[in-house]
Amino acid sequence: MKTNSRQLIAGNWKMNGLVDSLSGFQTLVATLDKEEPPANVLLCPPVSLLATFASAGRGKVHLGGQDCHDAAKGAFTGDISAEMLKNAGATFVIIGHSERRQYHHEGNDLIAAKLKAAWRAGLHPILCIGETLAQREAGETLRVLSGQLDSVLDDKIAKDDLTIAYEPVWAIGTGKTPTNEEIEQTHSFIRTCLTKISAELAAKPVLYGGSVNPQNARGILALPHVGGALVGGASLKTVEFLEIIRSANVQ
Ligand code: PEP
Repeated sequence: MKTNSRQLIAGNWKMNGLVDSLSGFQTLVATLDKEEPPANVLLCPPVSLLATFASAGRGKVHLGGQDCHDAAKGAFTGDISAEMLKNAGATFVIIGHSERRQYHHEGNDLIAAKLKAAWRAGLHPILCIGETLAQREAGETLRVLSGQLDSVLDDKIAKDDLTIAYEPVWAIGTGKTPTNEEIEQTHSFIRTCLTKISAELAAKPVLYGGSVNPQNARGILALPHVGGALVGGASLKTVEFLEIIRSANVQ
């Protein structure tokens, strides 16, 4: 099944980028201004660059945060709220990235609260789900994915203003990916899980993330249930990120 939406190619710079990265961002914006990109484009730089990029002129590029606190404000040293991201120019926010789950011990309750915070602030959340290598090897991938969705998206908080990104943890930053057939099967399964929560949600693009690069992007983005890509390392290189954007499948 193909959805009617344009694909979304999202870049996650993680904890990379200094003020001199502005020139790469401006090249991205200027190049996409000249072309008609076949996909919607989102960049999630570190929060230190968000306002700088927003005020430099984002053209066709949407901007997003990589995480947010669930509270709107308060005594939470070092944290950033969804409202602050919005105020700095973001329209999207990534929630539940595996690096947050792993290094910051974020569990499903907190992730659900962060989703609510994103909606409260008027941001579009991208919810990351994915299995670890041990879970995959134990044959638990589908159980893990449905558990991650069910525990966060109950009837009370299910909204259609949400994008899911399937990111196998073992594929992030490793250069390894599932086969295209495996990606297709897993995305199809995720869509079936989403159908049980909301038909609108099930019709939204589901992104694939994990070692997407200019060489494998076209094949992955052509898969019927894949609605775009979440790109880490390759989004740091403007030329590579542009190549991935140009590989999007026009649906
Ligand atoms: C990510 O961090 O979301 C990601 C997909 O990283 P990479 O593309 O580097 O594997």
